[in-house]
Amino acid sequence: MAYDESNIFARILRGEIPADRVYEDEHALAFHDIGPQAPVHVLVIPKGAYVSMADFGANAPPELVTGFFRAVARVAHDLGLEEGGYRVLANHGADAGQEVPHFHVHVCGGGPLGRLIARGG
Ligand code: 5GP
Repeated sequence: MAYDESNIFARILRGEIPADRVYEDEHALAFHDIGPQAPVHVLVIPKGAYVSMADFGANAPPELVTGFFRAVARVAHDLGLEEGGYRVLANHGADAGQEVPHFHVHVCGGGPLGRLIARGG
C-alpha cells in the first residue's frame, strides 16, 4: 500500500491541523486521541512515511525504530502511567480496524483497561 501524504496524522505532523501534543522529539510525536477509549489515551507516531506496523517494521531505519519505541516508553512514563500500568497497541489493516494509514501506537492507561481482545463489533 502506498503512503497517502494527505492522511490525518501526516497533516498533524506537518502542523496543518491541531493536536493536543504531549511529546515530540526527532523520531516521534505524541498527542491525545480525539476519541479517548481510556482515562488516558495517547497516540504516538513516527516521523516518517510508514503506512502500518508491517511497513514500519520492514522499512524504517534501525535508529528510527529504536527512537520511536523509546519515545513510546517515555510518553507513558511522563504521563505517570508506569506505576499503575498501561497498554500499547497497534492496529494493522482491516481486521484490526486500522483507520489512519500512518503507523501509530495507542498508549492507554489511567485505570483498569479490561480484556485485551474484543471480537467483532
Ligand atoms: P486506528 O483505528 O487507526 O488504530 O486508530 C486511529 C485513532 O485516531 C482513533 O482512535 C481515532 O480516535 C484517532 N483520530 C482520528 N482522527 C484524529 C484526529 O484528527 N486527531 C486525533 N487527535 N486523533 C484522531
